[in-house]
Amino acid sequence: MPLTSEELKTWQARWQNASPEQILEESVELFGANKIAFATALGMEGIVILHYLYRTGLHHAVEVFLLDTGLLFPETYDLLRTVEARWQIRIRRYEGLPLEQQRALFGDRLWLRNPDMCCFLRKVLPLRRALSGKDAWITSIRREQSPTRQHTECIEWDARNGLYKINPLAYWTWDQVQAYVREHDLPYNPLHDQGYPSIGCMPCTTPIREGEDWRAGRWRGRAKLECGIHQ
Ligand code: SF4
Repeated sequence: MPLTSEELKTWQARWQNASPEQILEESVELFGANKIAFATALGMEGIVILHYLYRTGLHHAVEVFLLDTGLLFPETYDLLRTVEARWQIRIRRYEGLPLEQQRALFGDRLWLRNPDMCCFLRKVLPLRRALSGKDAWITSIRREQSPTRQHTECIEWDARNGLYKINPLAYWTWDQVQAYVREHDLPYNPLHDQGYPSIGCMPCTTPIREGEDWRAGRWRGRAKLECGIHQ
């Protein structure tokens, strides 16, 4: 459902101070539940959005999916099972090339030599499959997370993927996210308490030190800040 640039600006202004609940409900009215999907890596922000979907009763209507690289932390897979059981939902996994095949074609531990190619194979291509036929996708990104995300709006045209992107937490702070999780006693990845504000694949995620940027632990030592699905 294409929006004019004026309509897009109107929605952006309307949602700047709206609750995630309102944004999710109005997104579904705008695009239709079967035309929206929610991508989550089960970080704390993703848990907040899942809870809002649950509160609004949209958790069964909107497809929720995980890009399963096969290289996620055991804690992330544990959380996946916990969340599915708690909210009685099935989070769909979209996987990349089998790791053995990747090894045979591109060599061992591609993430060390060419992380962009590895992310392309394990995240970008599966994302394209997941978003095929959709008009909008919901993400957990926030302005505060990195310089590359500082201008994020609650709704944007995602030219990279050819559909709209809904970011209900665009204006939230990390403190707000943590407070919400505490207030509602939600499950979350225990790695967040061990210095990992941003949790991706095991080989490419390290804890951050005091004063470091929120995503400094991702692809440490490289200029890379994004896996290619958002930027
Ligand atoms: S984050 Fe690392 S291991 Fe995961 S897909 Fe990207 S390069 Fe590969």
